[in-house]
Amino acid sequence: MTNSTTNSTMGEVFLVGTGPGDPDLLTLRALRCMQAADVVLYDNLVSEPIRALLPEGIERIYVGKERANHTMRQQSINELMVELAKKGRRVLRLKGGDPFVFGRGGEEIETLAENGVPFQVVPGITAALGVASYCGIPLTHRDHAQSVTFVTGHLKDGSMDLDWIALARPRQTVVIYMGLLGLPVLCEQLIAHGRPAETPAAVIQQGTQPSQRVVTATLGTLPDRVKNEGLEPPTLIIVGEVVSLHDKLKWFRPDQALDQRL
Ligand code: SAH
Repeated sequence: MTNSTTNSTMGEVFLVGTGPGDPDLLTLRALRCMQAADVVLYDNLVSEPIRALLPEGIERIYVGKERANHTMRQQSINELMVELAKKGRRVLRLKGGDPFVFGRGGEEIETLAENGVPFQVVPGITAALGVASYCGIPLTHRDHAQSVTFVTGHLKDGSMDLDWIALARPRQTVVIYMGLLGLPVLCEQLIAHGRPAETPAAVIQQGTQPSQRVVTATLGTLPDRVKNEGLEPPTLIIVGEVVSLHDKLKWFRPDQALDQRL
């Protein structure tokens, strides 16, 4: 790794996306940053097999995610990174997926920039892209979808602050992050704004990992289907005609290590 520290006491932060879980989906740059750092901050979206690739001597700080006091936690993570870098440490901030897609990576490096801490950002494969590939669901397709939109389905006071009219338009795919709790609201609102109840839709659990599960249904039937399945987070929702291709295009066998197939 190049030496980009500005003086002998100032360290550096590598903000690194690790992709959706399969360690083979790390970038080479992510791996090189992992090897160059001396302390790592990670949360529960960074999969176990990826953590296993960290060098033995690295100091590990778990900064897990708790729904309830998220804001406080985020603030203290930002401050901790500044503090460590100012002590001359090479800090690896590992994030699931891509740091700039629903990852609060922007906020983290804003604090670093304000404090004069040097940093680098390494993109990762965001959940939507990784999950779609491993499920055989092309997000765009000439016959089915000319655009794709990523939204967060985080519930706030029991509702979702989304542009339903835009999302209900035909010939597009909508991918919803953090949407499992709000799934009934999501399906109900899309139907109420004109997306047909027969529109194919899927929930994917732990995509790209051996524990991947895919539940497909329609907007009208998905909430009930999912209720009985007992899915474990993280899960992603995909809505649109492209979901109907899953049956034909699925290829990933979660029960079979990919290594065996190369
Ligand atoms: N920065 C991350 C997203 C963080 S938000 C990225 O780019 O992927 C966390 C949400 O991402 C989860 O609630 C879930 O909706 C989604 N997610 C992340 N990894 C996933 C996976 N392996 N399978 C399914 N959904 C995933």
